[in-house]
Amino acid sequence: MSSLVIQDLHVAIGEKEIVKGLSLTIGSGEVHAVMGPNGTGKSTLAKAIAGHPDCTITKGDVILDGVSILEQEADERARAGIFLAFQYPSEIPGVSIANFLRAARQARLAEGEELDATAYYKRLYARMDLLKIDRKFTSRAVNEGFSGGEKKRCEILQMAMLEPRIAVMDETDSGLDIDALRIVADGVNTLRGPNLGVLLITHYQRLLEYIVPDFVHVMYDGRIVKSGGKDLALELEAKGYDWVKKDFATATA
Ligand code: ADP
Ligand code: MG
Repeated sequence: MSSLVIQDLHVAIGEKEIVKGLSLTIGSGEVHAVMGPNGTGKSTLAKAIAGHPDCTITKGDVILDGVSILEQEADERARAGIFLAFQYPSEIPGVSIANFLRAARQARLAEGEELDATAYYKRLYARMDLLKIDRKFTSRAVNEGFSGGEKKRCEILQMAMLEPRIAVMDETDSGLDIDALRIVADGVNTLRGPNLGVLLITHYQRLLEYIVPDFVHVMYDGRIVKSGGKDLALELEAKGYDWVKKDFATATA
């Protein structure tokens, strides 16, 4: 069992404080949705967890299975089991998905240890079958000329192959048509289970109709201002973010 504990986290970008004392614990087997208006610090939170160099942690801690990860570089955090799915994934021309994933698996091994190619392909094909991905797909270059849906399929396959302990998905639904949205949702629903914790960041409630979260948190002005079960997302959809803003204004007045 894994856990990611975010403790009174404060994150600045440059001189500006953006995350202002956020606490959240994600256990394996749980899907937590973080919702909030634009500009509230959701992406900054995701980047801070993943170790993006733009983020300065000014206070608080992020603890994966009892170990603070704040001193770790982004690649160390990835090896420790943190996976960040991007809103706009990059193209890697000339590198096939199969080779890219193989290199990523190799990077997880200890120095001097060689990836077993047969076992790798066996595992890759098993994961592709699980996710109903066509075998031809992995000979294509990573994200090159991909549709929105194909990019999402590629990302879900990366997640399946890297077997993170905690997956952070930052507005992975934005700008997706319904088919691409279903690919993300089916993928996450297939992979969700006792060994994976998910932090699902989204602006809209729509994704949560397909990936039903265990917990919903509303983020506003760099903090979590409300937490609840899956129904909180519906309440937000009905009342809009102004409702939270008003509540927040009253609470801090
Ligand atoms: P959200 O994902 O909730 O829309 P962000 O975390 O992207 O919010 O942004 C929160 C605030 O931080 C915004 O006011 C934004 O302008 C600012 N911000 C984000 N990234 C940077 C950056 N690289 N440089 C300066 N300001 C930034
Ligand atoms: Mg964002």
